[in-house]
Amino acid sequence: MTDLVKNYIGGRWVEGRSGQTFETSNPATLEVIAPVVRSGAQDVADAVAAAKSAYSTWRLTPAPRRGELLFKLALILTERKDDLARLMTQEMGKTVAETRGDVQEAIDMAYYMGGEGRRLKGYTAPVEMPNKFGMALRDSVGIVGLITPWNFPVAVPSWKMLPALVAGNTVVWKPSEDTPASSAMFVQAFIDAGFPAGVVNLVLGYGDAGAALTEHPDVRILSFTGSTTTGLAVYSKAAALGKKVTLEMGGKNAIIVLDDANLDLAVDAITWSAYGTTGQRCTACSRLIVQSGIRPKLTEALLAKAKTLVVGDGLKEGVTVGPLVNQKALDKVSAYMDVARQDGADLLIGGGRDTQAGPGYFFQPTLFGGVTPAMRIAREEIFGPVLSMIEVGSLEEAVQVNNDSAYGLSSSIFTENVNKAFQAIRDLTTGIVYINHGTTGAEIQFPFGGTRGTGNGMREAGQAGLDSFTEWKSVYVDFSGRLQRAQIDTDAVLSGDLNGS
Ligand code: NDP
Repeated sequence: MTDLVKNYIGGRWVEGRSGQTFETSNPATLEVIAPVVRSGAQDVADAVAAAKSAYSTWRLTPAPRRGELLFKLALILTERKDDLARLMTQEMGKTVAETRGDVQEAIDMAYYMGGEGRRLKGYTAPVEMPNKFGMALRDSVGIVGLITPWNFPVAVPSWKMLPALVAGNTVVWKPSEDTPASSAMFVQAFIDAGFPAGVVNLVLGYGDAGAALTEHPDVRILSFTGSTTTGLAVYSKAAALGKKVTLEMGGKNAIIVLDDANLDLAVDAITWSAYGTTGQRCTACSRLIVQSGIRPKLTEALLAKAKTLVVGDGLKEGVTVGPLVNQKALDKVSAYMDVARQDGADLLIGGGRDTQAGPGYFFQPTLFGGVTPAMRIAREEIFGPVLSMIEVGSLEEAVQVNNDSAYGLSSSIFTENVNKAFQAIRDLTTGIVYINHGTTGAEIQFPFGGTRGTGNGMREAGQAGLDSFTEWKSVYVDFSGRLQRAQIDTDAVLSGDLNGS
């Protein structure tokens, strides 16, 4: 067991005000990794005060200088990639190859948003009067509160923190209770890159710390990723206080396989989308919508591929599927096995805890056939290695089944027919669409987010990611130098010739 994992507030690692702690542990071995500070509302208030004090200087730091710190951060994360990845695997279970990819996303985002330090583009446009100039600028907002889940302990916070920081905001981050040590190691990289005290603050703890952050009057923006239930609770509280909120929530993503698909490509993509990260990705594929003609061959190939997966401790060489994150997740996924049986689905492989893999929360990669779109396993987010196969007759029916979901994050279609591919691009109503590729693997330069119950219309990453963390400021410069101009404008407005808003 290592030392107490502390909060980072105002440039110092500090213990919690209440003295309460909790433990972070390894879901593969069930060993305790470290005790952790459990923050309350007072710790959150301290962090917000530190962020407020740092904001006045940080917002005036030239954006190119802010960007340079992000480039330094990218270099440090590159050097520490293995150490960070191994700690993440110990805390939340996914394999080291996957946690390395998680860190890589943060590195990519640091380079991308570092470049924004020299762009942060606004625009000019012609104006209605002579001797007048108009422009729209992106402005920082103030203190940003970040609330994040455990499944991407570094990538998800980086999607929020890095655009927020380059835009001139300061942040208070409440990560998941399941990944506090990884979060602390990530914050250490900001410290070593030279971010000034108070610009990045970390408060560790449970949901009550997230709730305190949501309600704090000085936090102007909330950026949340997590379950739909928690996200909507954060949304309603924050909305009542007039705050801007970005939500990235649950998913029930599908891969459609048409009769003309390349079978090998489809099998590989389905396997990694459904069982990679033990099915605990917001973009994981949990519905397989398959056209009747290819279903028998696809089923056979998928079962053969599933048998090659190795469930075990993600730190071990050769393991391809790590454990579920905690006992609660194991209980939830297990309960869905009964739900599936009661609904009449056919269990084709898996279906239970994998006790051979070790003492941890291991679950067998599972495939159900004979699933109908109305069954609960086809509608609810299970967040485990469980795939439900739904048979359809046509592309149109496949699209209809895909779109009939409470969620709308990611979808995918396998077809060799370019006309069908474009028809799907037009008609699938998810925020992300893949052609001949699994439902995972988003790149940070494109907008990321979902429709319906997955989000609230905001997007992360790409240029769209900056919208969450900036306000538009429209500026009009009158350089006529003539006193009568105001009168001319007023007359014109009163006579209805000009827009007076
Ligand atoms: P949760 O909603 O349980 O938790 C998310 C974060 O919210 C955690 O930091 C949690 O703290 C905190 N929290 C809990 N209660 C409150 C509260 N009342 N007020 C404020 N914050 C609170 O999600 P999980 O961590 O279990 O993550 C899994 C979920 O995340 C899945 O539904 C998945 O689909 C979704 N997700 C979505 C993504 C997307 O981009 N759309 C990406 C990744 C995941 P604590 O951990 O201490 O409970």
